[in-house]
Amino acid sequence: MNQQILNWMDTMGIDVCFINNPANIAYLTGFSSDPHERVLGLVLMSGKGKSFLFTPAMEIGQARRSVSGLDVFGYLDHENPWEKIGNLISTQISGSQKWAIEKNYLTVERLELIKNNCPIDDDILDFTSVIQEMMLIKSPEEITKMKHAGLFADYAFEVGFNSIESGVSEQEIIAKIEYELKKKGVMEMSFSTLVLAGESASDPHGTPSDRKIVPNEFVLFDLGTVYDGYASDATRMAYYGTPTAEQQKVYDLVLKAHMEALKAIKPGVEAGFLDSIARSIITEAGYGAYFNHRLGHGIGATVHEYPSIMQNSQFIIQEGMCFSIEPGIYLPGEFGIRIEDCVYVTANGCEVLTHTPKQLHVIPIKE
Ligand code: MN
Ligand code: MN
Repeated sequence: MNQQILNWMDTMGIDVCFINNPANIAYLTGFSSDPHERVLGLVLMSGKGKSFLFTPAMEIGQARRSVSGLDVFGYLDHENPWEKIGNLISTQISGSQKWAIEKNYLTVERLELIKNNCPIDDDILDFTSVIQEMMLIKSPEEITKMKHAGLFADYAFEVGFNSIESGVSEQEIIAKIEYELKKKGVMEMSFSTLVLAGESASDPHGTPSDRKIVPNEFVLFDLGTVYDGYASDATRMAYYGTPTAEQQKVYDLVLKAHMEALKAIKPGVEAGFLDSIARSIITEAGYGAYFNHRLGHGIGATVHEYPSIMQNSQFIIQEGMCFSIEPGIYLPGEFGIRIEDCVYVTANGCEVLTHTPKQLHVIPIKE
């Protein structure tokens, strides 16, 4: 079971690795579940013990069907899960143990409960970067799933573009997109779908509302779907009516920044270099202050994962990595423009995971 992690545990002298983040548990075991406030934990034991998955009792059946080569134990709602986990460990190995946890995920409250109920040393190591590194390079099977997720995002744009007309609201367009996706069996979006019209998009992550589409404005679509545990994430722009010369100019600038950054992707370049390519195009045109976020982020089993494609990052891009390229310009009170695709890095470049054309999608006004 996960030899890479067991080797790391050996090297670091760790007895127990406690994994609490459901996304990481899904990645490592194939068991995908949202436990809400209940306790879901993967307990990896060094050579001295046998690793096990710990779930709410109501999920034991599904868990046992999803994982192989791993014991599955559970707890009822009225039981103390931490005491049970502690006992399961103590029956295998005696005395206080050196643990690794996900310091970026496990809450302080849960760590205190572990300390009160389980055999744990004061010296606790962090597992976060180990799993981040493991998830960084995607296998061909993972990339195939991400391509499927991308195809459904492309379909979502098609539905969204076709839904634009005077008087329809941002929220109604989202409802249409997600209804059509569910009919095709896509039950989960990567994140809350964004449809933002006109000035609503001048905050990069604005909140869709009952604001109705009117003639002669941009409509931003930022969305993604989950396919077999893997996420897509893409942004496209439509224009309802006829853009002004100024609006078209700003759109073309974002598109140029996006395309030039894509062209520069290959193994060996630094993440900060990619950001600088897009940012310098936007800055030299005088809009640098209106591009107020990083160029991109890693994606895979979760929609935002390591690495961050940001200014000054010396992180080296490698073949098999997947991340977004999403420059934007946001003019307060006027409009916001972002163009986003996720890519996977090939031996000498990259391939995009979404294929909806990036020319501004102009929709004639419907009477
Ligand atoms: Mn993104
Ligand atoms: Mn996005």
